[in-house]
Amino acid sequence: MTRIGFIGVGTMGLPMAKNLVKKGFTVTAFDANPDAVKVAAAAGMTAAASAAEAVATADLVVTMLPSSPHVEAVYTGDGGVLAAARKGTLCVDMSTIDPAVSQRVAGAAQERGLRFMDAPVSGGTPRATDGTLAIMVGGAAADFEEAQPALSAMGANVIHVGPVGSGEVVKLCNNLIAGVCGVAVSEAFRIAEGFGMDPKVVTDVISKSSGNTFLMGFMHPVPGIMPSAASSHDYAPGFMTDLMCKDLGLAVDAARNLRVPLFVTPAAQQVYRLASSHGLGRRDFTSVYAFLKPSSGQAPV
Ligand code: NAD
Repeated sequence: MTRIGFIGVGTMGLPMAKNLVKKGFTVTAFDANPDAVKVAAAAGMTAAASAAEAVATADLVVTMLPSSPHVEAVYTGDGGVLAAARKGTLCVDMSTIDPAVSQRVAGAAQERGLRFMDAPVSGGTPRATDGTLAIMVGGAAADFEEAQPALSAMGANVIHVGPVGSGEVVKLCNNLIAGVCGVAVSEAFRIAEGFGMDPKVVTDVISKSSGNTFLMGFMHPVPGIMPSAASSHDYAPGFMTDLMCKDLGLAVDAARNLRVPLFVTPAAQQVYRLASSHGLGRRDFTSVYAFLKPSSGQAPV
């Protein structure tokens, strides 16, 4: 039985780790938030008091952390994974981060005799809970094979996309599209609403037309249309606005380094940034719809 050290049992990490437990893996969990560790322990995991303790006897390390600096600190910082895990241990980072950071951590892991893969996910909390995430994996083929059973416990579509860092490349491209769609769908429904249209009727028609998107089909930003969507639960995340802002920033940075012209993505990122600075940073990113409310009827047009 594979022993897994799981670090970061937050919105996504907790349901993912629960699926590992369900499939018979032994999971030791650590999170910087002690309450999250308590919830993990109640779900059948062993609670660890530190990242080092979580990975000390692990065969496989899984990390699900907010962003690049968190991942770099957890792996290479004092008392970090690379210092504490046994030689040869395979580490799988499932966070969405800068591909260059994945490659840097992989290099540091190799120097210490450990192995590292990036395996970011898509599908949000519903698919994390069902164990049906899409998982895009960057790493050596043999490491991918070794991690398959654990990854398959968390995802339905587990795809090896290339060497270390390439999972993150695919993920940042995906979230570029999803983030831009979040703003586009919100703008469209604000216009329809302004004309007095019933958003359910508009949704029905667009779902059969060229404007249909995964976002509208599974994460509708207008409250009351989709009972399971964050919008129908006061935008409880889900996927936080601040995380979407971070992901669009990864795309903007990558495009700058690659000299790719980018217009729509930076604009969408600034909309999320503004939504965050107006108090929606820790709400679901589809709350951008709430942010994009029309100005007063007295305003000149
Ligand atoms: P989250 O903030 O809910 O969870 C992250 C967890 O990491 C938190 O519990 C936090 O306490 C913990 N943490 C932070 N620093 C730590 C440290 N140094 N040591 C140990 N634990 C630490 O975020 P989330 O929504 O679960 O997202 C995690 C990652 O998954 C992000 O990179 C995000 O972009 C990505 N992602 C999220 C979703 C989603 O729908 N929420 C979907 C796909 C990908």
